Amino acid sequence: KDEKRGESSDRPAIRFKDVAGLEEVKEELAEVIDFINSPEKYYKMGAKIPKGILFYGPPGTGKTLLAQAIAGETNSAFFPASGAEFVEKYVGVGAKRVRTLFEKAKKDAPSVIFIDEIDAIGAKRSSESNNEKDQTLNQLLIEMDGFHSNQTVIVVGATNRLDLLDEALLRPGRFDRHMFIGNPDIRAREEILKVHIKNKPIDSKVDIKSLAKRTHGMSGAHLSNIANEAAILAVRNNKKHIGIDEFNQAIEKVMAGLQRKNAVVM
Ligand code: ATP
Repeated sequence: KDEKRGESSDRPAIRFKDVAGLEEVKEELAEVIDFINSPEKYYKMGAKIPKGILFYGPPGTGKTLLAQAIAGETNSAFFPASGAEFVEKYVGVGAKRVRTLFEKAKKDAPSVIFIDEIDAIGAKRSSESNNEKDQTLNQLLIEMDGFHSNQTVIVVGATNRLDLLDEALLRPGRFDRHMFIGNPDIRAREEILKVHIKNKPIDSKVDIKSLAKRTHGMSGAHLSNIANEAAILAVRNNKKHIGIDEFNQAIEKVMAGLQRKNAVVM
């Protein structure tokens, strides 16, 4: 299934309402979406459609989800790819894969290409030559410069490290819109938890606000994980509803994982 990444597309059903928090980012993206949905008024005004959007920030904060939502809101085909996969497999294949990806996206337009871990191909070019990576990056630049703005292909890149990226990639006409996607604050954590318990039977005593308070420092991915762990525990405990005990245990488990990870980093 993995080989298919970057080569298959679908039109995701994910919408902005599925992405909790990140209100400012969604507001900024609303303009891009309006452009894709009704380009004529922009063209009449002589405006060019944005080609590249870069999401940067810590892992698990909804970058992939947002990219899918852009596709969902515009009924665009979605082409997920990973920078690491472009260069890891076989030498010489990266540039060709980039070319094929853009060909397909153009054919299926309107489309959204999502390149996760774009730093794997987009890191600053060093004097030490890395042919495979540089060729792949060059091909990406060629593709982004090459398509006309009336072909609605939006390229969304995601990275944890904006500072690593080659400036050529960030120039106007390429990834010229940069949006920081950070860890959720207490209100956003509450919203994210609500999204992830929406279809689960929750005991009425569970206080979502208090869960949000106790999950400081966690990402959306952690919160989604907590909701899922709690559901699994409720099954194990033969409960009809997911209760406070299950949430407590789930938080502890995810928290322990976080601390282990931090310990390794330090
Ligand atoms: P990475 O940098 O690790 O690729 P990411 O920022 O792309 O991470 P996503 O893959 O979008 O993170 O998020 C992982 C999962 O966490 C999502 O599928 C979703 O279930 C949940 N999630 C993250 N952020 C949010 C959010 N803002 N609202 C709702 N769910 C979220």
